[in-house]
Amino acid sequence: MRSADDWLKLLHEVPDPEIPVLNVVEMGIVRTVESNDASVEVKITPTYMGCPAMDAIADDIRAQLSPLASQEGRSLSVELVYAPAWTTDWLSDSAKAKLEAYGIAPPGKTTDKRALNGEAPTVRCPKCKSEATELISLFGSTACKAHYRCNDCAEPFDHFKCI
Ligand SMILES: [Zn+2]
Repeated sequence: MRSADDWLKLLHEVPDPEIPVLNVVEMGIVRTVESNDASVEVKITPTYMGCPAMDAIADDIRAQLSPLASQEGRSLSVELVYAPAWTTDWLSDSAKAKLEAYGIAPPGKTTDKRALNGEAPTVRCPKCKSEATELISLFGSTACKAHYRCNDCAEPFDHFKCI
């Protein structure tokens, strides 16, 4: 029988629907995995409120794990947990590096509160690493991202908003 760790490893094969270079574990979506003889329980926390991808993520996790759980005669549950709320601080450093390599400027630390004072945080261009960037739109390709342009290489890019 698979252990909780084995199930967690399998979850590394479930990509985030919006950012396919990251899996749901790297995204910090998977909170806990518990298993006993009868069942496997996965708890996940939604990322940005209103991100429509959450149902898709739960479905993807079920599709990945449920055939294997059935083989072992165990039930599978995927439960949404809303507290504590997800934060971009749960993204691992390797996840942030992958985001940047993918062309999305990763979020900074939520302890950077400059935005509250009306100052824009410094966002580094994922392509040329210049910090001479400007905000084009608060909403990029999805509500979770803001759209920026680099003034050095003229490349437009998305910034994963920090929450
Ligand atoms: Zn650039």
